[in-house]
Amino acid sequence: MATIAPFAAYNGEIIPFDQASLSVASSAVLYGLSIYSVFYAKHTEAGLLVFRLPQHLTRLRQSASMIGFDDVTPLISDIETTLRKLIEANKPTTDQFFRVTIHASELVPGVRTRNLTLSLSIFMYNAVNILPQDKARIKTSQWRRVADTAIPARAKVNGAYVNSALAKQDAIDSGHDDCLFLNQNGYVSELSAANIFLVKRGELITPDCASDILEGITRRSILELAKEVGIPTSERKVALTELYTADEVFACGTSAFISPIIAIDGRVIGDGIPGTLTDTLRDKLKAAQSDPTHDWITLF
Ligand code: PMP
Repeated sequence: MATIAPFAAYNGEIIPFDQASLSVASSAVLYGLSIYSVFYAKHTEAGLLVFRLPQHLTRLRQSASMIGFDDVTPLISDIETTLRKLIEANKPTTDQFFRVTIHASELVPGVRTRNLTLSLSIFMYNAVNILPQDKARIKTSQWRRVADTAIPARAKVNGAYVNSALAKQDAIDSGHDDCLFLNQNGYVSELSAANIFLVKRGELITPDCASDILEGITRRSILELAKEVGIPTSERKVALTELYTADEVFACGTSAFISPIIAIDGRVIGDGIPGTLTDTLRDKLKAAQSDPTHDWITLF
């Protein structure tokens, strides 16, 4: 279970976490009209190392723009200062996740997205992996990933996570760790809150950005790390049976890090243990997340 830190930020003010709340009549509560991102921070002697903060803020801005919120740039322009104040108030002693959400906090406006009051909340909690580290088993869901033509897949919109919750609960109920979503065309999309990669004949393959995926920041980082070490990569449509016959499969995301998947729909993947390319990439990602001088890190 996550332990939420005692202070949160709400519209730039640092307040006790349990006072950071929204009205039951807000659009955010009524329609799931909020957008968010979660980023990881490693706790070190040097300070908190926040992973790829600018990319998370860009995705937040783009999510807002895709669903038609007014420009959120003014709302997030001071976010670094707010984060510093929040960290100072909470004084974390372990690795953290930060959840930054922009809520349509306007009261009962009907289903529209423009000219609404928007509020920014940030809270932090101890970073616990959402998947088992070496033995994740997943199940293809009967629920399809919400299509980009229904709710933009590459926007991180709170309401769209009903789709993830349905599929993940179903996977848990049948003894699995997570679901595997196919899209409306029957191709592999992603997990409930993580992207997916497979390794076949030495090539690293992941569903492309037209496969109704969230464009994960960890996914992009892994593609860049693979290029650095000379692993060939491909972003394309992926069929379910390619996963069944892959040498290695892993999930990735801010809260999944890199989690090897050892079985899908009861079929053992590769040797049923984390593969060597998966291990190499996991080590590279950990090294980047632990290096205060890395380009991808903002030090707090
Ligand atoms: N897909 C979905 C649906 C997610 O919720 C997440 C978690 N944010 C991811 C993929 C992974 O994205 P990221 O690497 O940016 O955390």
